[in-house]
Amino acid sequence: MRIDVLTLFPGMFSGPLSESIVARARERGLVEIHIHDIREFTRDKHKVTDDYPFGGGAGMVMKPEPVFAAVEHVMGDVAEPGRVILMSPQGSVFTQQMAMRLAQERHLVFICGHYEGVDERVRQALVHEEISIGDYILTGGELPAMVVIDALTRLIPGVLDEESVAAESFTSGLLDYPQYTRPREFRGMTVPEVLVSGDHEKVRIWRRKEALARTLERRPDLLRKASLTPEDLRLLEEIKRDKAGGTGEGRC
Ligand code: SAM
Repeated sequence: MRIDVLTLFPGMFSGPLSESIVARARERGLVEIHIHDIREFTRDKHKVTDDYPFGGGAGMVMKPEPVFAAVEHVMGDVAEPGRVILMSPQGSVFTQQMAMRLAQERHLVFICGHYEGVDERVRQALVHEEISIGDYILTGGELPAMVVIDALTRLIPGVLDEESVAAESFTSGLLDYPQYTRPREFRGMTVPEVLVSGDHEKVRIWRRKEALARTLERRPDLLRKASLTPEDLRLLEEIKRDKAGGTGEGRC
């Protein structure tokens, strides 16, 4: 997978994309990430990348010429043209399913907007997809692009162990179950007995029931869309019975 990022603020990427799992994936050659300064694709002496909006109004708009030149440059570098993504609060809201789909691509190009946004002709002529990371406005598309790159990089085959990805919140359609590590007792709080029982089947059922209970409590919308097995339906009945009987704590 190759990722090209087009930005006016390349320095913002050095920390997040050079640490932890993304850094390891880069070192192992599983993902190649190139950050390009859009300013380098200007042709005038002052390297101007923005201008006043036609029709008046507040703020500045990113000019189309340097963005077109930058996209054409990165496309010229690769055999197969990539998928161009514009970070935009007006795009589809990013989900784990979108991260899974993007992790299958060979080449992605992210355009980070700034100011009032990018000239509309960029979207019309170059962009395959617009992605938002939520219903709020950030200063620029750099943080949103890093969020998307982080989420998809960990899903590239070989980056993480597949079992841990499969069990994560959203991947399985449910929120994840609670996790514990040593010490077994901490400030009077103990680890549920079942997790130290050594009975793998009991642990599996406990985890599934906890995942179902959390999802029911916090994100019932996910539960309505999840594909549930007969065992899940039975566990959900138990959860509802426990709740009605006031034994929500220490399920199982
Ligand atoms: N005037 C634009 C609007 O109301 O839709 C907002 C522009 S915003 C200040 C500048 C840039 O930040 C956008 O072009 C986009 O690249 C990025 N951005 C801001 N919020 C975002 C979000 N929630 N998701 C993705 N990108 C965002």
